[in-house]
Amino acid sequence: MDFNYSEEAEAFRRDFRQWLEANMPARAASERRPEFMLGDSSDWDFHLEWHKKMYAAGWVGVSWPREYGGRGATLEQQVVYAEELASCGAPSLVNGIGIGLVGPTLMQWGTEEQKQRYIPKILSADEIWCQGYSEPNAGSDVASLQTRAVEEGDDFIVNGQKVWTSGAHRADWCILLTRTDPDAPKHKGISYLLTDMRSPGITVRPLVQITGERGFNEVFFEDVRVPKRNLVGPKNQGWQVAVTTLMFERTGMAGRDLSGQVAELAALAKLLNRRDDSAWSDSYVRQTIGAFACEAAALRYSNLRQLTRRLKGLPPGPEGSTSKLATSELNLRITKFAMELLGAYAQLESNARFAPETGKWLYKMIAARALTIAGGTSEIQHNIVGERVLGLPKG
Ligand SMILES: Cc1cc2nc3c(=O)[nH]c(=O)nc-3n(C[C@H](O)[C@H](O)[C@H](O)COP(=O)(O)OP(=O)(O)OC[C@H]3O[C@@H](n4cnc5c(N)ncnc54)[C@H](O)[C@@H]3O)c2cc1C
Repeated sequence: MDFNYSEEAEAFRRDFRQWLEANMPARAASERRPEFMLGDSSDWDFHLEWHKKMYAAGWVGVSWPREYGGRGATLEQQVVYAEELASCGAPSLVNGIGIGLVGPTLMQWGTEEQKQRYIPKILSADEIWCQGYSEPNAGSDVASLQTRAVEEGDDFIVNGQKVWTSGAHRADWCILLTRTDPDAPKHKGISYLLTDMRSPGITVRPLVQITGERGFNEVFFEDVRVPKRNLVGPKNQGWQVAVTTLMFERTGMAGRDLSGQVAELAALAKLLNRRDDSAWSDSYVRQTIGAFACEAAALRYSNLRQLTRRLKGLPPGPEGSTSKLATSELNLRITKFAMELLGAYAQLESNARFAPETGKWLYKMIAARALTIAGGTSEIQHNIVGERVLGLPKG
């Protein structure tokens, strides 16, 4: 395993860093938030404007092939790109579902007509996408979904309900999983439809989060017409398309470097008092943060090992599934320890008067819990690691 990046990747890093230094908005530092946590419209507009600026300079979708408007970045360059974005604290981009999931899935499964119609407007965020997978009784076991699509002439008629649909209230389009053959075994009767969110019969109702933001929704479908040309992959074989999307989702959530988060925690400990001294002077605090730093470093090396495998042309190894689990759980423990350090101040919400560091840690802690559920819960990840990596019998 080689810890050094190639000269080509380092040159890419210099270019990107230079651009970021010249273009970062002044409000950037506190604005790195998951898209489902973006609240009011001024918040959204700020992130959309930043996205458009990055896009105009060619810094959105660096991993996408050039023929689809991306940069065709190598794997190493993609890692460098993520490192630079995280270390400079740039605001997050928008249309994560479109860029991370829909585009790559369409490149693999879409018809030529679908590719030409949908892909160009994804990177530019001219069309925003959401993901209609989960239902009230089909989350971890998403293949149990019941939303029905019945053929009528040139259309499918869709009836049913989705839930936890991030960004549905802003979305123009949805990747929608529907049941087209209720008599087939559950994985075999599913179809994958590109659905226009402005279609008559769609109702989007917000689910208000604990932060007060409206990032999630329930989405109801009543006799919604979806043209048959919007079917991705063969009818009743949508599960294979859905799995492709899930694979991109999990890979996208895996490789986050938490060393910056640990450094922020250490800074918090130096800021706060504990028994009339700085919290940092307490050896228990330093040891706990030191242990987090070791875990973050281990995760980083594990991700690099994964990168080395892929650079050698080998398929992704078990590190992908362990990494999503370990990263999201470590992130949660770091933010919970911040709550312990803050003591009574932990109750002060974002931007409240007297809240240390503008109350960002309470916010981070709430967001951290969500990441242990989204893209497959920690329990489901444990099952995958146990069964597919360690070869243990099914529970
Ligand atoms: C931040 C966030 C964003 C999301 N965005 C979207 C989105 O845009 N589109 C979308 O379709 N969905 C979205 N989801 C939904 C997400 O995919 C589901 O919440 C997740 O798959 C879990 O499903 P569930 O909530 O129905 O829980 P359930 O599946 O009902 O699980 C309940 C509990 O039982 C446990 N459990 C379930 N099955 C097993 C098992 N076999 N073994 C052990 N434990 C088990 C789970 O781990 C969990 O603790 C989002 C969720 C979050 C938190």
